Amino acid sequence: MHPFAYHPASDAADATRALGAPTAVPLGGGTDLLVTMKEEIAHPDTLVDLRRLPGARDIVLHDDGSARLGCAVRIADLATHAGIAERYAALAQAAASVGTPQLRTMGTLGGNLAQRPRCWYFRRALPCFKNGGPSCLAEDGENHYHALFTDGACHAVHPSDPLVALTVLEATVEVTGAHGTRVLTLDELFAGAAQRADGETTLAGGEFISAVLLPATAAGGEQFYDKLMQRGAWDFATVSLAAHRRTDGRVLMAFGGLALGPCRVAASVEEDVTTGGLDDDSIDALSERALYDAKPLEHNGYKVWQAQALLKRALRRMDPL
Ligand SMILES: Cc1cc2nc3c(=O)[nH]c(=O)nc-3n(C[C@H](O)[C@H](O)[C@H](O)COP(=O)(O)OP(=O)(O)OC[C@H]3O[C@@H](n4cnc5c(N)ncnc54)[C@H](O)[C@@H]3O)c2cc1C
Repeated sequence: MHPFAYHPASDAADATRALGAPTAVPLGGGTDLLVTMKEEIAHPDTLVDLRRLPGARDIVLHDDGSARLGCAVRIADLATHAGIAERYAALAQAAASVGTPQLRTMGTLGGNLAQRPRCWYFRRALPCFKNGGPSCLAEDGENHYHALFTDGACHAVHPSDPLVALTVLEATVEVTGAHGTRVLTLDELFAGAAQRADGETTLAGGEFISAVLLPATAAGGEQFYDKLMQRGAWDFATVSLAAHRRTDGRVLMAFGGLALGPCRVAASVEEDVTTGGLDDDSIDALSERALYDAKPLEHNGYKVWQAQALLKRALRRMDPL
């Protein structure tokens, strides 16, 4: 393992300064970063621990329904916090479905969003696109767990469950760097994720996710997270779905396990679900329309069926026949 220095950042300025070094990276719980270092696909010289930054562990719920979640909030805290469960049930359920109790206790929200893909070619340090090679080795290889939607060379999927829930809650991320803070939508954070070899986010060198922000519209309504796995526990989603019928009646839905970033269900499908009055035929038609643009590879066609099944289940739940 490449030798490295450990820097526990005391505040945002200290973290930004330390992360200014070209070979420094943020450290959350280390449950993914240390593994990628042992797998020799990451070789940082300095790990900048963000967990002691003021407010980094805080869950702040505002009276208007909005919230601020510090970057180092534990996944376990999201899963068990009464206020999160009451206001943002989809997020609480997604967090509760992450890995194991140990991973949820160590893993942080910022690290969960910035974790690297689980693609086995990438993880085995083979010369795939994400490891600096010319092409995606999964495209014509072992692609059982890969994407149905990609706009780039890479066919890996994003492993995060919380990301799927945050997508339907229309969360944004606060990013801190040498020039202060900026706020990005999740689409902006992951823009071009499949086209970039050195990571999945648009964070510039020295920047880190300092908080996740939930708007007032994220609170309440009907919301849930549904996850399909190859086995019953301690696994990543083959396909998952988050759904939110907001208090103003608008429905937002997103898939997990199908793309390397946020994957909203087609707007026309969301609009029809918002309108309601669905019957068996329209539910079938909507589930087909939602996957119309999917591009299955040789071994992951089952994900189309799984995604359609999750969508049908969600529609029946939100709009009982
Ligand atoms: C066996 C196993 C099963 C798992 N199952 C699931 C699952 O079912 N669902 C799921 O969602 N996840 C799953 N995970 C992933 C696990 O939840 C992540 O490892 C964890 O969330 C990462 O958080 P961390 O704080 O440990 O990140 P770290 O390991 O510390 O960091 C991960 C990456 O994020 C970067 N980073 C960390 N913090 C920040 C920040 N604030 N800003 C910018 N970049 C940052 C690091 O530099 C690194 O590149 C699993 C992991 C394992 C090992």
